Amino acid sequence: MAEVIEVTGLVIASGPIGEYDKRVVLLTKELGKISAFARGARKPGSPLMAACESFAFGIFVIYPGRSSYTIEKASINNYFRELATDLQGAYYGYYFLELADYYARENENEGEMLSLLYYSLRALLDKRIPNKLVRYVYELKQLVINGQYPEFFCCTNCGQTQNLTGFSILSNGVVCEQCKNQKGVMPISPATLYTLQYVVTTKSDRLFSFTVKDEVLSELSAVMHRCMDAYVDRKMKSLDMLAAVEDFS
Ligand SMILES: [Zn+2]
Repeated sequence: MAEVIEVTGLVIASGPIGEYDKRVVLLTKELGKISAFARGARKPGSPLMAACESFAFGIFVIYPGRSSYTIEKASINNYFRELATDLQGAYYGYYFLELADYYARENENEGEMLSLLYYSLRALLDKRIPNKLVRYVYELKQLVINGQYPEFFCCTNCGQTQNLTGFSILSNGVVCEQCKNQKGVMPISPATLYTLQYVVTTKSDRLFSFTVKDEVLSELSAVMHRCMDAYVDRKMKSLDMLAAVEDFS
C-alpha cells in the first residue's frame, strides 16, 4: 500500500472521467501542480463531490499511483461558493485558475503561487476592490513569482531611479522623463508607478489592501495588457468569456 501524503491545495481544473469519477488538477504547496483521480466523486452523497469542484481549497489526503495521484479524502476550508452566484467574479476566477495552470510545475514548491491565488480569489469576493484591479495585481504578481517581469524601479535607458514617467514594453520597463521620447513609450503617473512597485515587493497576503482611481486603473490596464502579450505565449481560453462580461459590472 502506497504511503498517503497530506497536501494543502486548491482545485484549478476538474473534469468527469468514467461513469462516477473525476480527474482534478490541484495546485499544491508541497508538490506543485499535480493531477489526481477522485473515485466516486460524481456519485450523489460522495464526500469528495464538493471537494473536487474548481476553487475548493483545503487539505487533501492523497496517495501516489502509476500515472497520477488518488484522492482519499479532503478537508475543505473554503469552497469560494459565492463565486457561483457572481457571474463576472466567476469568470475572473476561472481566468486566474487557467493562468496558474499555465505557470505551475509539478514537483516545484508552489506555496507562493498558491497563496497568491487564494488571496486573489478572496479579493474577488471583496466588493470594495474592483475586479479589474484584482486582475492586474494577480497578473503582475504571477509574472514576478515566475521570475520574468519588467523593470519598474529604474530607467531602462539611463538607470536613474527618479522621474520615472513612462513605460515601454519594447525596453521592458519604465523610462525617465529625459529618456521618454522613444517609440512605444506610454506615459504613466506616479500613482501607477507606485502601484506597480508595491505589487512587485509586497507579499500576497497584503496585496489587496488598497484601491486606485479610475485613471490609475486604466494605466494599469494598458501596462498589464502589454506585459501579458509579451510574456505569456498561450492564449487563455477563459479570456474570451471574461472579455464578454468584463464591462458589465
Ligand atoms: Zn532615463
